Amino acid sequence: MAKIICITGGKGGTGKTLIAVNLATLFKNHGFNVLLVDGDVENPNTYLLMNGKLENSSEVSFFEPKIDEHKCTKCGLCAENCISHALLYIKDAIPIPILNVCSGCKLCYKICPTEAIIADSRVIGLIYSTKVNNIDLLIGELKPSEARSAVIVKALMEKIDILLNDKHEKYDVIIFDTAPGAHCDVEELIQRADYVIPVTEPTRFGRLDLLRIIELIDLLNKEYRVIVNRSSLLGFRDQFLNELNDNDIQVLGDIPLDEDIVKSYCIGVPLMDNHSRFDTQGKGYKSFQIIYENLAKWSGIKT
Ligand code: SF4
Ligand code: SF4
Repeated sequence: MAKIICITGGKGGTGKTLIAVNLATLFKNHGFNVLLVDGDVENPNTYLLMNGKLENSSEVSFFEPKIDEHKCTKCGLCAENCISHALLYIKDAIPIPILNVCSGCKLCYKICPTEAIIADSRVIGLIYSTKVNNIDLLIGELKPSEARSAVIVKALMEKIDILLNDKHEKYDVIIFDTAPGAHCDVEELIQRADYVIPVTEPTRFGRLDLLRIIELIDLLNKEYRVIVNRSSLLGFRDQFLNELNDNDIQVLGDIPLDEDIVKSYCIGVPLMDNHSRFDTQGKGYKSFQIIYENLAKWSGIKT
């Protein structure tokens, strides 16, 4: 059974993707089969940090009701039963779908007695399936101006289930990179995870958003350990770590500000890449090694 590790965080820009990509790379370096899933569907960028490409796309469509005026008897049954109030109905008139509030549940389509509702659909996003540096990468992407990110996350989960049921695909470790925040897209991914790693930074915003995401993780009854990124920021490291300790928040490790990490961002090569040009004695490199060892111990993954 693959162990699922979810990298998340209440706040944007804390370095979730950097950490997801480097942990995936470390597991791969240790001989594990790794699937990395980019669930930040409004802003997927794992592939950029791995010098990969968006390829092998499949479309994600969303149901839209369309009414056949010749078949509709204007009975109003569909509008009466639509709990999203997405069908505007005036007595003796053909209902009008209000697509931006329609949940796509298809109830109207199923219950229309005259089959006047046609199942139309609209492409709202894509799933990319690719391989970079021997890591399988699954990326969800919501199209610009679309609002239904949860549909793309759901499609990602379905794709993972297909992969896990495929006898040819054997994964030891699956790593999720979530969107920032504590909303339903993030919840869906945390719900599936065995181990959750919220990423934060030593600022007041970081602390507040960390507490918010921990509240969600606790509600979902999941185990978690925190990574503090940019921990050396303005010398607040010890104070911040002490605060976490005082609140019984366990820390998996911390990553100081490091020039090589910035360089890895700029050139799109993971810091922990086997053949990389980074300083293996550098602060960033060593901190990732410590985090990997702690994670392997915590999750019971044999290294
Ligand atoms: S249930 Fe069917 S027939 Fe009745 S109003 Fe709706 S679309 Fe028309
Ligand atoms: S698909 Fe569901 S939400 Fe949309 S109009 Fe039909 S019943 Fe309402």
